[in-house]
Amino acid sequence: MPSDSSLFDYDVIVGGAGPAGVAAALAASRAGASVALIEPQNALGGVWTSGLLSLILDAGNKPGIMEEIREALITRSAVADHRDLYDAEAMKIVLDELCETAGIDILLHSKISEAVVCDGSITEVILECKEGRRHISAGCFIDCTGDGDLAARAGCGFDLGREKDGLTQPLTLMALVAGVPENIRQQKGKGTASCLPKLAFLDMLCECGYEPSYRHPSLFPLPNGLCALMANHQYECSALNSADLTKATLQARREIHQTVDAMRRIPGGWDQVRLVSTAAHIGIREGRRIHGEYRVTLEDVITGARHPDAIARCTFGLDIHSPSLKEGGAISNPDNVQSLPYDIPLRALIARDCDNLLMAGRCISGDFDAHSSYRVTGNAVATGEAAGIAAALAAHQKSSPKALPFMDVLDRLETLRIREVKTRSPE
Ligand SMILES: Cc1cc2nc3c(=O)[nH]c(=O)nc-3n(C[C@H](O)[C@H](O)[C@H](O)COP(=O)(O)OP(=O)(O)OC[C@H]3O[C@@H](n4cnc5c(N)ncnc54)[C@H](O)[C@@H]3O)c2cc1C
Repeated sequence: MPSDSSLFDYDVIVGGAGPAGVAAALAASRAGASVALIEPQNALGGVWTSGLLSLILDAGNKPGIMEEIREALITRSAVADHRDLYDAEAMKIVLDELCETAGIDILLHSKISEAVVCDGSITEVILECKEGRRHISAGCFIDCTGDGDLAARAGCGFDLGREKDGLTQPLTLMALVAGVPENIRQQKGKGTASCLPKLAFLDMLCECGYEPSYRHPSLFPLPNGLCALMANHQYECSALNSADLTKATLQARREIHQTVDAMRRIPGGWDQVRLVSTAAHIGIREGRRIHGEYRVTLEDVITGARHPDAIARCTFGLDIHSPSLKEGGAISNPDNVQSLPYDIPLRALIARDCDNLLMAGRCISGDFDAHSSYRVTGNAVATGEAAGIAAALAAHQKSSPKALPFMDVLDRLETLRIREVKTRSPE
């Protein structure tokens, strides 16, 4: 993006460059749109990179951009035996290269702070940049901020937290640790990517005098010799409030140091464990769920809903981390709800209250329970890809995403995927 402060006009502006935003920008650009991708952090990838997530879930049945990213990581030897545990530094460069090659205007260190709305459509967004405020305009916008910041600034309705008390899932600061004994790192977890069963790891930490606030602490073995540590839950904090985010981050970092100190006291060669890094941004499981033309519900997850305008099939079940410590501090499914693979329809990505706005990733339209399932990154990428195509088509046709025949989007999604597979398979 040029560095002067004049108004720039794009076909599509994507706010937020997490898994959803990167996929949205790539898909829109490959569909022929001029695209700006806006991100406050110093890297593309959101929770994948700035959040040090390290594990991609619900990716196996996702062709297209998700498959392309997984293959690029494999080429760099940046995935563990279990192919969806990855090296976050490699993920950064993979995403940089994909977006630069696609000709996307990337703007890091910049945040969307306002949206200007005229006759029901966004005309421009205002960015907080290092040099001050900048205005940029587009025909169509995609909110991939995770928290739904762009849609909220445009006046769209949303839900936050669970229906009965508004509480959201807890926040978690991820960390990288070195020096975990190799015999532990090499263990294969049963039904989990963690190399230690979570309750066994909890017992080990408790025996060493420390009980982590996440009662299912996990240790993911990464391809770079390190492990990703997920051991804290910051309860009853709003992801939409800087004071809460600050409190959660400081508390979490203190807990991570205490956890690593306790790990060093575990008998059997753990004394060399050390903390390499805490994530640049605390991981946010839940922000606003923007009202769309369709709301994905718990009923959809239980019944395995099918839709004619399906753009992704979710196979990951409900995953609700206790919103408060008194609810157990782990992952709860009190009613033992069984889920079936279900569809996300394109309508869940189309903002109800704005004529030129789509959402992708964890801020799409859904209820609290369904969100706990579709929020994982394989699905974020699939929703981003579909939103990107829909936004490019809407911008070119100068129409609203609401007016697009969904078959046009599905056809285009299929065409792009076929082309990607062809160009990626030299053998
Ligand atoms: C601790 C934790 C563990 C998880 N474990 C897993 C797991 O193992 N596997 C898995 O697949 N998923 C996991 N998830 C879920 C998953 O990480 C998220 O739901 C997923 O990242 C959603 O992708 P996204 O692109 O919607 O959001 P995000 O990854 O949150 O990206 C949103 C992006 O928008 C940017 N942004 C925010 N506000 C603005 C603004 N105003 N203007 C511009 N940009 C903005 C942010 O900086 C960020 O880069 C986990 C989540 C957390 C928090």
